Formats: sequence, structure tokens, C-alpha cells
Amino acid sequence: MKTSALLCLLALLVASSSEAAIRYDIKNRRIQPRQTLAGALHEAALPDAQVEAVIAALEGVFDFRKSRVGDQFRLVMRDGELDFFDYRQSTVDEWQVRRDGEKYVGSKRSIEVEKQVSLVALEINTSLYEAALEAGEDPAIGLVLSDVFAWDIDFYRDVRKGDTARALVEKFVSKGRVLRYGEVLAATYEGGLVGNKKVFRYVTPDGQANYFQEDGASAKKSFLKSPLKYAHVTSGYGSRFHPVLQYVKNHNGVDYGTPIGTPVWAVADGTVVQAGNAGAAGNMVVLRHSNGFETQYMHLSGFAQGVRAGLRVSQKQVIAYSGNTGRSTGPHLHFGLKRGGQYTNPLTQKFPRADPLPKAQLPDFLAKTHELAQQLQAVSVAAVAGQAPAPAAK
Ligand SMILES: [Zn+2]
Repeated sequence: MKTSALLCLLALLVASSSEAAIRYDIKNRRIQPRQTLAGALHEAALPDAQVEAVIAALEGVFDFRKSRVGDQFRLVMRDGELDFFDYRQSTVDEWQVRRDGEKYVGSKRSIEVEKQVSLVALEINTSLYEAALEAGEDPAIGLVLSDVFAWDIDFYRDVRKGDTARALVEKFVSKGRVLRYGEVLAATYEGGLVGNKKVFRYVTPDGQANYFQEDGASAKKSFLKSPLKYAHVTSGYGSRFHPVLQYVKNHNGVDYGTPIGTPVWAVADGTVVQAGNAGAAGNMVVLRHSNGFETQYMHLSGFAQGVRAGLRVSQKQVIAYSGNTGRSTGPHLHFGLKRGGQYTNPLTQKFPRADPLPKAQLPDFLAKTHELAQQLQAVSVAAVAGQAPAPAAK
């Protein structure tokens, strides 16, 4: 009775409620930092002999050195004994171990995935989130877009009704379903507040992929436009969660009203000077950057793993999560910027762009981006994608 074990399992799960004979117990876990798969299985209270059986079944099927933090696995226990194990890495790779009589058998399942380049066109009436849904896209497109415009657009603050965004973006598709977005090849944002922004992805001869503007200037700046990483914010955003934003001189910073747990970005490369509880400021991170700049992030709910004094962080690294700790009257992030020891308004401070494309690369860049720019303006989505867009899976 090993045919279609999973379906059988489901049937048994239903049956078991009336018969109450066989007990199933399902555990979903993730690989934790500095944890091996064997360690994680022990942690999930799998008996030693069965941990060894799983490891043995995966020998030669799974390369254990490729086990990574965050990989997901699932144990299905039947009357206290392992019946089924699966291990997921990314959306495409999955390994399974099934019980076959007295033995355990391991196998790899590859999900066939096709990469397409699609044109995504959004018009924002209420929020980026809603705009994505209206266009039949996954709200994750908001994250993808905010990432490539992070130096010029604060997607919590700068979005206005009537703004439009277009992007040529890779989609990983399986059986007509979009599993996830890949790289953005080109994107435009036309905003009532921010004006027109256009970025192109270009791989320089050293193999580095970077974003540049139409004329070859870098899309990057030494500081991000916002200390908040764009996160899925449901339809409440735009009304309830619209950031209460102000720069108040006597309290030396900007307040972003935002739901607790919103990821906080290091706005620039730097070193952690302080990470801990700081009284009225609540949980606080202070970063030191080059050219005498310092940034402060206050009222945090928690810190990202490993963030402590002395740690070097890079721009766009998530260092903490917003909260409501210390002397705070509601969930918000207080963001402060100092230059040469003096507080300065982060909203008006101008930061330099990264180096432009080397002159020698410019002709190639212009030729390639000309083509992308034309595709961006294409009227029909299907003409680029080769098929109609489908809602993405989570
Ligand atoms: Zn404040």
C-alpha cells in the first residue's frame, strides 16, 4: 500500500477522526543558524534511529553541505514513527524520504520551472499592494520594485494616487503558475511627487549586476531613501497605516508610523556602534558610516540576528524590526541622522550617487537599454510575456 502515499495519508487523516486508531503528527520546521539537518531532526524530537535512517536515505541524493538556514522541512509521524519527510530549498528543489515497509527511501523531486520575462504595468489608485492585485500580480512585486528604486523612492511615503510603474521582470513559472519573481531588467516609475525614474539592470565586465539610469549614471546612492524595507502591507495601508511622518527639530528625527515588525534597513554601509535597550529610545540601533555620518533607529521591537556593537553592516541589510518600545505613543520608527556629531534632517540631506558606468561601457549599455526601453513601452503584455500573466503563488 504505497501508491500515492500522500493521498492515502490525507484519506487516513480524515478517517482517523472517526476511527481514532492511527495518530498522525505533522511537524513543520526550518533549519536554524549553525544547525545541521541531523541537528534539526533531533531538535524536532525525532528518535535517534530514525534520524540516522533519514540521513542514510538521503546519502547520495542530497548534498548535506548545501543545507541552508531557513530551508523548510516537514515530518509526518504515524503513531510516533516517521512515515514521510520532505525538505524544501527554494521553490524548485524538494527532497523526500518515504517509508517503504521497513526501509526508508530518499529521492529528489524537481519542479519544472520556466523563466519568462514579463511586462508588469501598475497604476496606483489606493496603494501599491492594491495596484498589484488589480493587475493580477502577486503583491511581492511591490518588494521587487521598491528594491530597484530604493535610492530614489520611499515607497511608504512618496506614493501618490495616479502614480504608474512598469517593469520588465523575470518570472519563474511552473504549470502556468508564477512561483516567484526574478530580476528586474528595466523599470520606470512615474510619480506625482517623485517625478519620472527609470532604471536598467546592466552586467559590467567584472560580472557585477548593477542598476543604472538611462544615461549611465548609477541608480545607487550612498544612502537609501528610506530606513524601512517595503513589506507586504495589506489594504489598510493608505488609510490606517499611512505613515505619520514628520521631522521635528527638537526631537531630532523623523517618525514613520508603521506596523510593528516592519523590517528596518541599514540605510548605508557602516558599523554597529550600539544595539540594545536605551531607555526612552527603547530598543535602539546606532550605525556609524563614512564621512562623519551616524544613523539612529529607535523604538524597535527586536534586532536582526547577530546585530551587536562592532558588526559591519551593508546597505539594505535588515538590522532590526520596528516596534513600540521605550517612550513611544504608538507603533513607529524614529529615524535620526547625524553629521559631524550634529543632528540633521534626513529628508533634505543630499547624498552622492555611486560611480557611473565607465565610459568604455556606455555604447554597449545604450544599445542594450534602448531595446529594453522599447519593450517597457510595449502596449500588450502578452507580446512580451508570450502568455497572459497569472496570479503568483505565495
Ligand atoms: Zn520620533
